[in-house]
Amino acid sequence: MFKQEDLRELAAYRAQAPILSVYLNVGPAERTTDEYKLALREMLKQAEGFAAPEDMAAVERFFDHEYDWSGRGVAVFSCAKEGFWRAYSLAVPVASGVTVARKPYIWPLATLVDAYGSYLVVLIDRQEARLLLFGMGELQVSDGYVGEEVRKFKRGRGSSGGAGRRGGAPISSRREEEVAQRNIREAARATERFCQQHKPQRLIIAGAEPTVAQFREALPKALQRKVIGSFSADMNAPEPEIRERSLEILQRVEEERKAALVEAVFTAAAKGRGGVIRLADTLGAAHEGRIQTLVIARDYHRPGYQCRNCAYITDQFLEICPFCGGEFVEIPDAAEALVTKVIEDGGKVEVVDDHPKIAEFGVGALLRY
Ligand SMILES: [Zn+2]
Repeated sequence: MFKQEDLRELAAYRAQAPILSVYLNVGPAERTTDEYKLALREMLKQAEGFAAPEDMAAVERFFDHEYDWSGRGVAVFSCAKEGFWRAYSLAVPVASGVTVARKPYIWPLATLVDAYGSYLVVLIDRQEARLLLFGMGELQVSDGYVGEEVRKFKRGRGSSGGAGRRGGAPISSRREEEVAQRNIREAARATERFCQQHKPQRLIIAGAEPTVAQFREALPKALQRKVIGSFSADMNAPEPEIRERSLEILQRVEEERKAALVEAVFTAAAKGRGGVIRLADTLGAAHEGRIQTLVIARDYHRPGYQCRNCAYITDQFLEICPFCGGEFVEIPDAAEALVTKVIEDGGKVEVVDDHPKIAEFGVGALLRY
């Protein structure tokens, strides 16, 4: 499984030959293995002419014979010419895609580490708390707190119900409430200690209202700010259910982050400072090595031209290169060449699904200066 150190190693790697980077979403159980393999072959077709045939063959071999189809996603990097091969099974969902560049295309993985790297799910009720620390969708550590039993205190002499209906809260239910509140405060303290030790980036609270809200209130402010959502669950909910429900919340947070990134690009571009939109302007910024974060719609492709001499990419036909006077060759996909250029220059690439603005303009970027 994938670890943070793997990301650092991948980020530092640079090859003299093109590296084939492949991401495949494999779950959960939406399609058969053969359907995934078919989707993979379709994707690899897009890399024909860019990727080395031996890398394509290595990837197909991996999915045919080695991969056990566990997890929710797979990331594979191959540069057979340099003997470079890495494959990671991921317990979190990833968008499928193929990229060819002299550096591994790591941004989807970096995004996964940000989004799913380390999060704590706290299952809470009026007596106890279960703490489940996940890393990249896998359970890492679990702990718990069990408080005093919130039992039904005897309601007066030989009575069987009815006591609570007489105006005001009966003493018995007030005592129950006190025990529950103390348990919740203790559970919050146990959570704080756990967080000091394990330092999760995010918190999700699971349980029933109003206990969830009371527990949240009992947390220190710094931890409250890390709470990204809650869902209702039983104290004995099985771990796969807790994992799935929390992944839904994390996915929503990730979508919101991407939407905010797109907004930032358009705002910067509108101000004419720190941002560009549209392919022509984005290609110009890329040529100057100014792209910090490229935002591109999934499946955006445009034919274009590339200077034989200085590698300038454009979507306009020009007789000679405005930068060096060199000659142009036609390339099948200027958008793909742009992604490669940004990756090789050390910029981030974020592929965005279903955002109306990016769908309209195709690409945009935040600039370094
Ligand atoms: Zn040129």
